[in-house]
Amino acid sequence: MTKSITILGSTGSIGRQTLEVAEHLGIKVNAITADRSVDLLEEQVRKFKPELVAVFDEDAADRLRTQVEDTNVRVVHGMDGQLMAAHNSGADVIVTAIAGQAGLEPTLAALKTGKRIALANKEPLVCAGNKVMQTAKQFGAEIIPVDSEHSAIFQCLTGADKGIVKRLILTASGGPFRGKSHKELESITPEEALRHPNWNMGKKITIDSATLMNKGLELIEAMHLFGMSPDQIEVVIHPESIIHSMVEFADGSTIAQLSNPDMRQPIQFALTYPDRKPSLTKTLDITQIGKLTFEKPDTDTFPCLRLAYEAAKKDVPTCAVLNDANEKAVEMFLNKKIGFNDIPKYFEDAMLRTR
Ligand code: MG
Repeated sequence: MTKSITILGSTGSIGRQTLEVAEHLGIKVNAITADRSVDLLEEQVRKFKPELVAVFDEDAADRLRTQVEDTNVRVVHGMDGQLMAAHNSGADVIVTAIAGQAGLEPTLAALKTGKRIALANKEPLVCAGNKVMQTAKQFGAEIIPVDSEHSAIFQCLTGADKGIVKRLILTASGGPFRGKSHKELESITPEEALRHPNWNMGKKITIDSATLMNKGLELIEAMHLFGMSPDQIEVVIHPESIIHSMVEFADGSTIAQLSNPDMRQPIQFALTYPDRKPSLTKTLDITQIGKLTFEKPDTDTFPCLRLAYEAAKKDVPTCAVLNDANEKAVEMFLNKKIGFNDIPKYFEDAMLRTR
């Protein structure tokens, strides 16, 4: 079992939940990295006693160095610092939980260690999927997905021969605006979009869930992780978020993975695989849930998913354009510069310009 980890992105939602799992399993934390959240980093340093902390922002790194000068931790900064944490920490597993494409370089550095990578950062696969998978292969790194849908598929595939997989079925909660009309979405504010019904996540991914772009990015992620074509991956809306995804096999059997929606389950699985251990996730009470429902996604009202399928069918550079334009559009929406329905328009324009 995993004895030590490094967390790239320890102050975000996945990073914080990874620390909870590490504490629960008694796993040592060798190194942590973050953008600039100095006070939270100080708390994490005092509690988990890593040997190395990499803070991207130089001023924030200076502040942290002063705040923790009574400890033995080494504080480094910049992209070099992130890469040092990814490469030199000596941990058994590197958890990549940086948000967005900023995680690409650190993820590649982590893969070059040839160790197990618990991959929570989806954008590197979306914008450079071939490179990420090739680097893993070249250096013998083992990628265990942490994204709940991909962890579900990974868990369903355990022990299965890939040749007998017919289809992957990615489930989506549908986000907070499922069933709303295009007109109703026009006036949606960032505050409303940040209220997700089932999952507790970071800002970027919560907006992506509201637009269904998150499922679009996950479609591309699944394509690379499991070597499937976009036509072999179906997205199904499942508002209860209990089935995290399914695999349909050639013999007509479909296997699903179920649990209460709690990211600590897939995080822990990536650390204990191939074993399973008691976790912090609440046991599923299916009779209390009563019923599970499914419906087709409404890609007219939520065009992001349709655009992601188009990009996935085209090529990696188009996926990278889509991802980049989406990151910018989400930022502008959060800063109230554009409306909710302008998000897909923004990257549809960007994709059209690449044709
Ligand atoms: Mg997910």
